[in-house]
Amino acid sequence: MSKVRVRFAPSPTGGLHLGGVRTVLYNYLFARHHSGEFVLRIEDTDQSRYVEGAEEYIFDCLKWCGLEPDESVQIGGPYAPYRQSERKGLYFQYAKQLVDTGYAYYAFDTQADLEDMRSRHKTDANPTPQYDHKLRTQMRNSLTLPPNEVEQLLANNTPYVIRIKIPENTIVEFDDMIRGHVQFDTNLVDDKVLLKADGMPTYHLAVVVDDYLMKITHAFRGEEWLPSAPVHLLLWKYLGWYNDMPKWAHLPLILKPDGHGKLSKRDGERLGFPVFAMNWKDPKSGELTQGFRERGFLPEAFINILALLGWNDGTEQEIFSLDELIQKFSIERVHKGGAKFDFEKAKWFNHQYLQRKTNEELVGLVKPYIAEHSVSIDDSYLKKIIGLIKERCTLLPDFWEQGHFFFKTPEIKELSVITDKWNEQKKAFFEGWVNSFNSIDWTHDALENSFNEQLTAHSLKKGDVLLPLRIMLVGGKYGPGVFAIAEMIGKEETKKRIINIIKRASEY
Ligand code: GLU
Repeated sequence: MSKVRVRFAPSPTGGLHLGGVRTVLYNYLFARHHSGEFVLRIEDTDQSRYVEGAEEYIFDCLKWCGLEPDESVQIGGPYAPYRQSERKGLYFQYAKQLVDTGYAYYAFDTQADLEDMRSRHKTDANPTPQYDHKLRTQMRNSLTLPPNEVEQLLANNTPYVIRIKIPENTIVEFDDMIRGHVQFDTNLVDDKVLLKADGMPTYHLAVVVDDYLMKITHAFRGEEWLPSAPVHLLLWKYLGWYNDMPKWAHLPLILKPDGHGKLSKRDGERLGFPVFAMNWKDPKSGELTQGFRERGFLPEAFINILALLGWNDGTEQEIFSLDELIQKFSIERVHKGGAKFDFEKAKWFNHQYLQRKTNEELVGLVKPYIAEHSVSIDDSYLKKIIGLIKERCTLLPDFWEQGHFFFKTPEIKELSVITDKWNEQKKAFFEGWVNSFNSIDWTHDALENSFNEQLTAHSLKKGDVLLPLRIMLVGGKYGPGVFAIAEMIGKEETKKRIINIIKRASEY
């Protein structure tokens, strides 16, 4: 077998959907598994859909995920250029070859001709008539016009497109690595444009030419491209390259959580979870779409989530490192059916990955989320806090939610928990405990011991004052052990928080 070469071929039209990253991942895993090469090709031939910044964004996403290509626009490679708009000049010869061999034809129809055709042939059963084997006989193209007129039109630089001539009554078939044998009836396929009036190829021509020239051996892409497969297959044949055609695999869709239909950006917005890899700001509308990265996912977790959206290794195992995925991945184990996206499960993965990180490693990751709140951060202090709260954290911003009171005096959200049952006995207890602070070592054990001594002295039970103490220190009914919190925030701050609430509670 020749060296495995796969490609991810995005069009730079906006943010990168998690389905796109999964396509990258499966390509990457397959390439690494077979010691092959992973190519990133930018398919920007449709200039009307080009979006500023989208190409850079794709590279940034791949970098964040750690799935970097071996050949690309950024690092170059033996088949450069890797941006199709820069390859514009080389597609014409292939389109021309197809015309010369009778597999394609010039079409001179104007926009008005096309609209007229559509309105004339529109029926309820066929609301959008296609330029196909039936209708091409009624249009202005090199199949219907006399040869001398065609020559004249070309000589006069009349705008034209080149269309593929799809054969009638033919079955086009191939073996998909995931779906098995698939076949298409060509009577249902239209004569796709291959070369546009501006000289740019369409996606269909460019993808075939470039997969050929770049020696791609396997082409994995989303299921939404399956209807284009017969056109591509015919092009491989007509260009005389059929023996070099890559093996195809059309990856299953990622579905909405309820399993009904493809997961869209809008579903994420509606249901409150990210669908893009990283934040994406549309340069035209200014609309910001949240990404997994900014939501606080770790790239390793994100990769693991995506790997399992359509694949498993046949066991119950769920946590896989990238190396393990490379070792175990096989495209044949990717399922045909769509994979439902479950955000709760995605969070579970992130929680698992957070717990596997050392506190040291987490410092750098958590810091930006703490810094957002303009508090001063000491790395060794942060590291200890991380150790205390990481079990309670699922996403990176949770470290602030679960630990803000280590950095600043909290707002007391549940004061009534204290005031509803406040009495002189409790007041005396807390005052007594605070007064004992000067004579104890400031460790959580010593704090707990002196707390227990005060309980006996004031005839109270732990249950009477432990929750009030938590509310005083944290602001709510959550957080790690109260004595550990007191130890961390220090004597003065602990004292201040307790006395402040004694005062407020006594005013009630
Ligand atoms: N340019 C196509 C896209 O935007 C690539 C499809 C393919 O991989 O053939 O997804």
